[in-house]
Amino acid sequence: MSTTPARPAADRCPGLLRPHVAEDGALVRLRVPGGVVRTDVLGRLVALAGDTGAPLVQLTSRGNLQLRGLPDPLPEPFVAAVEGTGLLPSASHERVRNILASPLSPGLQPLVHALDRALCADRALAGLPGRFLFAVADAHGSPLSEPYDVAYQQLSPQGGLLLAGGRGRPVAPQDAVEAMLEVAHAFLAAAPEGVWNVRDLPADSPVLDGLFPCSPSLAPPLPPGPVGADLVAGVPLGLLTAQHAAALADVARFVVVTPWRSVLVPDGAAVAGRLAQAGLVPDAPSAASRVSACVGAPYCAKGETETLPVAREVVRRLDAGTGGTHAPVHVVGCARRCGARSGDLVAVAPAGADAVLAGLGAQGA
Ligand code: SF4
Repeated sequence: MSTTPARPAADRCPGLLRPHVAEDGALVRLRVPGGVVRTDVLGRLVALAGDTGAPLVQLTSRGNLQLRGLPDPLPEPFVAAVEGTGLLPSASHERVRNILASPLSPGLQPLVHALDRALCADRALAGLPGRFLFAVADAHGSPLSEPYDVAYQQLSPQGGLLLAGGRGRPVAPQDAVEAMLEVAHAFLAAAPEGVWNVRDLPADSPVLDGLFPCSPSLAPPLPPGPVGADLVAGVPLGLLTAQHAAALADVARFVVVTPWRSVLVPDGAAVAGRLAQAGLVPDAPSAASRVSACVGAPYCAKGETETLPVAREVVRRLDAGTGGTHAPVHVVGCARRCGARSGDLVAVAPAGADAVLAGLGAQGA
């Protein structure tokens, strides 16, 4: 086994054991390979978050979970309690277990588990950047819309494609884990310092040796709404509350966290009303699926504005047709703009929903 290559200190992707100290306090990110998480664990996390920081669990664009507004350093009982949820099976590899999978294809989960086990058993791969993303996709191409570094797309029980950097090659399912980890090792060996993703490698990088130009089918992000008997439930602002978690626990033993501010609820279509009552979004038309916010006051020590009520009012106005944008909107409490993503219209909240909507009109024009 090769030794772990040194990564530059600038890889600041957080975990539980190495939180990031953000403007609103310490931030902990918990990986959920494949997105499957028990609803009682979600409830426990929201309760722990509320006891120690902001009473919310944030869903990330990589299908992971974040707790924010926490004290720095983290209290030891908090760390022990989060470890007790079972979401941290490997201390050394906690930040590299970034594995997306198609939420609608439970048959891919054994491959996700095999990849996670092999990744955690490989000492060298603890040195991957925390931004390196694995994906396990179905034949429709979900979740290949996301910016993965290496993926396996299973096309049939006998065949599939290894994908990286816009290229690919056929690989049998039984060889998929080994093939993905080979690419990860090649990345560690060849990526110049400061390069975090396969897409940033030069076209002649040895990481892409043996792969050929390839355009796999891509499925778009799943909008909220029923999918057969299941339900994609949007999580407003991407922030899961105790009320949401309790409703999910009432109707399902586990859910699948998606990278699109939602959770897939198995057999959830029949209980959509119960979930809507708790504030989840059971259908696509609501602006709640494209509006997000920083945690703001009182959870952020540096924030003087309560951003969440403003963001909820912005959603209500957009849903009522009194707002003027269809772009993603991110409401922040100050110029630090925490959590804003590329492509978001960013609105600073102190002046309230009226000013936010007026400002969005000007940005979108
Ligand atoms: S943008 Fe929001 S979370 Fe960030 S410092 Fe300002 S109020 Fe706090």
